[in-house]
Amino acid sequence: MQIKNSAVSMIIEAADQKELEEIKLQFLGRSGRLTLTMKEMAKLPIEKRPEVGYLANEVKKTIEETLENKISSIKNQISKARKEKIDITAPGIKPNIGHLHPMTQVLYEVVDVFKGIGFQAADGPEIETDHYNFEVLNIPKDHPARDTQQTLYLDTRNSKVTPGEVILRTQTSNMQGRVMERVKTPVRVIVPGKNFRYESVDASHGFEFWQVEGFMVDENVRLTDLFGTIDYVLKKIMGNDVKLKFATTNFPFVEPGVDTYISCTVCGGRARLPDGQGCSFCKQSGWSEIMPAGMIHPNVLKAVGYDSQKVSGFAFAIGLSRLVTLRYQMDDLRLLTNPDLRILEQF
Ligand SMILES: [Zn+2]
Repeated sequence: MQIKNSAVSMIIEAADQKELEEIKLQFLGRSGRLTLTMKEMAKLPIEKRPEVGYLANEVKKTIEETLENKISSIKNQISKARKEKIDITAPGIKPNIGHLHPMTQVLYEVVDVFKGIGFQAADGPEIETDHYNFEVLNIPKDHPARDTQQTLYLDTRNSKVTPGEVILRTQTSNMQGRVMERVKTPVRVIVPGKNFRYESVDASHGFEFWQVEGFMVDENVRLTDLFGTIDYVLKKIMGNDVKLKFATTNFPFVEPGVDTYISCTVCGGRARLPDGQGCSFCKQSGWSEIMPAGMIHPNVLKAVGYDSQKVSGFAFAIGLSRLVTLRYQMDDLRLLTNPDLRILEQF
């Protein structure tokens, strides 16, 4: 009986045919446990032999039947798996793990670098009033600079709001007023966010674009502080090899105003490729415009309640979408909003 029990439980637990063959050998083989027991029977007295012989045969039958059943059930499993075309030995399929969008990756880096030099990050409304988007920034209603910022207005006809007062912000500079009205100097703030303009979309323009606004106001802040800050930040993000160039320009909210250019990331500022061809990425200029900046206009400081005789400051608006396309040498801004995973998987 002991032999029967241990044989049956081993058979049930066996995983494959090979194991079953071994069990068969172990019990029913020429020197198997049951075979040996049956040989021992010869030593028993004659009258006991039929009884024990019968028992031994029963045990043998049970073991054989259990073995057969197990073998056919294993065979069934295999043929079923073959029919369903499941290869139980095939390695598993690795699930696709997502990652941050290149815009988000660069944004996080930019925020990190600014935090390292004492700037705080602020968030602000995308639906904004004319007051904060324009008036505070020294752009009164009749100012021609408004024409350069094709504005999207909200339809407020069925509300108490004066038409034209509520817009989608055209620049993250809307936060200059909102922050400075509430905070005493010194202030060092960056504002990453989305802006909206009525633009026709092409490879280098979108109706929706990201900026990282930044401004610093304190006593004795100078233009050289602006240059130093931008130089430090852009080299951290784009690498130490990039060169910067500043050119004077005119915006109502800064005096003086500068345009910032960064050396082309494809041709390294040489405007030509190693094979002598002109670089099409920078239109053979060697430079890419990356951000407007300048010293905050005294009128803006006055509008937020600062004493423009005592404090001064600089402001800039990094074109984040531009920064990302320059860094990854993309020739079309629209790739950043393309949901095709074959594009995004490259970053
Ligand atoms: Zn170039």
